[in-house]
Amino acid sequence: MPRSNRRRGSRSADGANEGYDVTRALFGSRLSVSRRDGQWNVQSVSAASASKTYICPGCSLEIAPGTSHLVAWRADGLMGEAEDLAARRHWHPHCWKIT
Ligand SMILES: [Zn+2]
Repeated sequence: MPRSNRRRGSRSADGANEGYDVTRALFGSRLSVSRRDGQWNVQSVSAASASKTYICPGCSLEIAPGTSHLVAWRADGLMGEAEDLAARRHWHPHCWKIT
């Protein structure tokens, strides 16, 4: 029986010892969340790890370096995980919550 790739998002959601993957290398642990517009991976970025300025897509304001925030990318995209990761967006936590 062939293995399905459809379950990869939920397998990693609990942060258990799943071994190495590309998102873990970039960000450490992550959450998988369901929204009206689909399934997303959400990763918090600590102030110490925030070394660049980003534009929050929720409010179009800057997220200054040294500000803890969230990064999110689709978990159900048709383009594959590498493409989804490349399209990840950085959010103010409250903007992500209310969007
Ligand atoms: Zn914002």
